[in-house]
Amino acid sequence: MAVRATVSRFPIDSDAQEACGIPWGLTVTPFAAKDENGQAPVYGSDGHLLPRCENCYAYFNTYCELDQWAWNCSLCGTLNGLSSEAIARYSRPQSCAEMMSSFVDLEFPLEGSEEEILHARPVYVAAVDLSSSEEFLELTKSALQAALEALAPESLFGLATFSHKLGLYDVQGPIPVVKNVFIPQDAEGTLPIELEDVMPLLQFLAPVDTCKDRITSALETLRPTTSWERTPPGTGQELNGVLMGGRGFGMAMEALCNYLGSEYGNTFALARVFAFLSGPPDHGPGQLDTRRYGEQYASKGEDADRALLPEQTPFYKDLAAVAVQAGVCVDIFAVTNEYTDLASLKFLSIESGGSLFLYSNTDDSTLPQDMYRMLSRPYAFNCVLRLRTSTEFKPGHSYGHFFPDPQYENVQHIICCDSYATYAYDFEFANNVGFSRHSSEQPMVQIAFQYTVVVPPEELPGSELLSSKENILLNEDLGYELCSMEQPEILMNSMMVLILKWFYHCLFTRSY
Ligand SMILES: [Zn+2]
Repeated sequence: MAVRATVSRFPIDSDAQEACGIPWGLTVTPFAAKDENGQAPVYGSDGHLLPRCENCYAYFNTYCELDQWAWNCSLCGTLNGLSSEAIARYSRPQSCAEMMSSFVDLEFPLEGSEEEILHARPVYVAAVDLSSSEEFLELTKSALQAALEALAPESLFGLATFSHKLGLYDVQGPIPVVKNVFIPQDAEGTLPIELEDVMPLLQFLAPVDTCKDRITSALETLRPTTSWERTPPGTGQELNGVLMGGRGFGMAMEALCNYLGSEYGNTFALARVFAFLSGPPDHGPGQLDTRRYGEQYASKGEDADRALLPEQTPFYKDLAAVAVQAGVCVDIFAVTNEYTDLASLKFLSIESGGSLFLYSNTDDSTLPQDMYRMLSRPYAFNCVLRLRTSTEFKPGHSYGHFFPDPQYENVQHIICCDSYATYAYDFEFANNVGFSRHSSEQPMVQIAFQYTVVVPPEELPGSELLSSKENILLNEDLGYELCSMEQPEILMNSMMVLILKWFYHCLFTRSY
């Protein structure tokens, strides 16, 4: 975890903060292996035994005053008793991570039975746009081949296609079988049948280790809709003299999220959908009116290429909420040079923790390489991020590809993040008093990051696949110092700011 504040000194009170006009907050890169100074955490185990404050639920850390039977919370000052286990543990300070560093990574014991854990495989689903060109499909196939090489062998993989129909592939039999369901043309329509009734999910999701060749042969059968059937009346549009079928992307994604969501937590702990899109959705629910681009702005005399377009429908934002509920992260790969209204589509990937890639053509697209790189990087999933501050100030807004917990304040859920994913918070004062001028009461931030990772097979003890981890992080000691009287002119005299000493109280978990 790396944490960087916007200012190296914190403003002493809200007047100073307003007067300086500088944003006050920090960025957190929770899954970064090292802190912003390049220091690795101290690793430990038994994260569930780490004492927590009875008042603010902050975690015990090196900044807490500890005596034989009790400890003072470094954030809120509450005196907390210690359990007999903790007393025994802290009588040997060199043997526990949280006594050695403010940045720790602590392993948690796995919850659930061993059988459930083994079933908690990562799931990947490719959703391929068939309302496209041969070149687009060739590129998509190369990207998916690259993905299959990068995926852990224990992963489950499903292949789906969409056009004016949604196709589900069963690759577990001797020959690949596809079952299609029509997507209603109407923007308010629903699928005539549940996907679970079209094909049971466990038939659709094939183990990568045993079915890689069959998945490859199924990919070889993908053809653009133009090559295998006539465009249904009313939905086709003529583009450069080629008849293109409808692109029922919105309905297809909604149905896939619900399909996968039915087994979330039972069969898998994370599902990731790779959506390959060759143009704007123009069929069924979630269709987008791309004529607005140009027209809308030309009429106002604005340059459409420079205008920031608002989303035209909340459909994809709402769909992101469905994806999050279902534990599904969506990555969108758009390969198109026509206007695709990513302003509306982006919410699906952003809010579910996925990425949005745009390639303007198939010729020099690095999609397969990007896909391989993305999947071979370590990533964390099922994450919870919690920021706590000392009592003088509190988190204000938060920014990033996460979603707030419906129940608890300042708790963010992240479906999936890699070591680069970064989130931001800004702060506000809890009252108009500001920070204490006594150096013994320094502002502090504690960030806890709970996550799960898939451990590569070579690092596995036995057959264990998933490790549940918690990074309970840091009490950053945001120590302060009053500015001397001789301030540079750019600073106003009334401004008193605090030094960020960057003492990390990071509690981390790790389980190798
Ligand atoms: Zn506390």
